[in-house]
Amino acid sequence: MDAHLDIKRIVAAVRSALPADQTNVALHQPEFSGNEWAYVKECLDTGWVSSAGKHVDRFEQMLADFTGAKHAVATVNGTSALHICLLLCGVQRGDEVLIPSLTFVATANAVSYAGAIPHFVDSEETTLGVDARKLHAHLDSIAELKHGTCINRTTGRVIRALMPMHVFGHPADIQTLNTLCERWHIVLIEDAAESLGSYYHGIHTGNFGRIAGLSFNGNKTITTGGGGAILTNDASLAKQAKHLTTTARVAHQWSFIHDAIGYNYRMPNINAALGCAQIEQLPEFLRRKRALAEKYLRALNGIAGVRVLKEPAGCSSNYWLNTLILENAELSNRDMLLQALNDAGLMARPAWTLMHKLPMYLDCPQMPLLTAASLEQRIINIPSSAYLSNGDH
Ligand SMILES: *Cc1c(COP(=O)(O)O)cnc(C)c1O
Repeated sequence: MDAHLDIKRIVAAVRSALPADQTNVALHQPEFSGNEWAYVKECLDTGWVSSAGKHVDRFEQMLADFTGAKHAVATVNGTSALHICLLLCGVQRGDEVLIPSLTFVATANAVSYAGAIPHFVDSEETTLGVDARKLHAHLDSIAELKHGTCINRTTGRVIRALMPMHVFGHPADIQTLNTLCERWHIVLIEDAAESLGSYYHGIHTGNFGRIAGLSFNGNKTITTGGGGAILTNDASLAKQAKHLTTTARVAHQWSFIHDAIGYNYRMPNINAALGCAQIEQLPEFLRRKRALAEKYLRALNGIAGVRVLKEPAGCSSNYWLNTLILENAELSNRDMLLQALNDAGLMARPAWTLMHKLPMYLDCPQMPLLTAASLEQRIINIPSSAYLSNGDH
């Protein structure tokens, strides 16, 4: 036990950052205070609820405008978006894809859907994202370039891609990772599922690699019920993404001709209608989420043994999930604090179980995962909905 961790004081500090009238506070809850009803009603009134309709195109244009990416292709969820990203970057059966062990399972599953093998890499304390310096050293020790392809000398397999993730919305050290990828001829794909509204040195996340995946699941910063999107600045990739996500059907007035094994991954119009209404409110959601993070930072400032994760220098984070980081890696401490927060009606959750510990990924290649292992025992997410920073309190 950590004698210095004042659980009561921490719970009181978290509580003090929230509106006093809120009890049983969720971790992240969606908010439908804009045009959601109007747009969804229009879908129902006109019968355009499914795979065709104007809201999908509109939502894609709004996403491109907001993120500054040239193209956005809406999908049924974030996992399917990542799956298509991997396929379009040439990831093949038996390839390895570098991903953090500290991520949501969708990152690893998308790699598996493509027939590839996750190769787990360590994370860093400051951003919680992939540690570029350690990855550099790891590749130096296990990889070699053969005819312009990165080969893992210990497994003999091609290391085709790196898919870092912007954890809880905080941008990873993406420019350094980009440089590393160029040097090793590895494709950079961003899992930007958590980082809509997050910027690295003024540029929206998802614009650094060749292609990126977003998620609009019910717990994300904006939601379409379920949904995702592919972002890219490459017109040809965008065209292929749209083709592959719409059963690879060749455009024709009536014939059903498909020129590849495509996927039924297109976002339905009714979900896109929700998305259009949500993205209209995104700037306001971000303003309030960032204000809430400020309140947490102030409330917990100076309390020993714990800190609130702050956006990395030079970055602007959406603060999707606010994060407490304990100083000492002791599960009993973390669990006591988790229990106390939840008992106080403040929903709190630990980080995901690390990917390399899950039964289906036990045998995958990995580098030493010391920081990820430590972080796993020290992370606690606390209530982060935009509405918690409504009005004055
Ligand atoms: C939410 C999320 C996804 C995508 O999830 P879906 O539920 O399929 O939309 C992918 N990666 C990460 C890290 C996520 O948090």
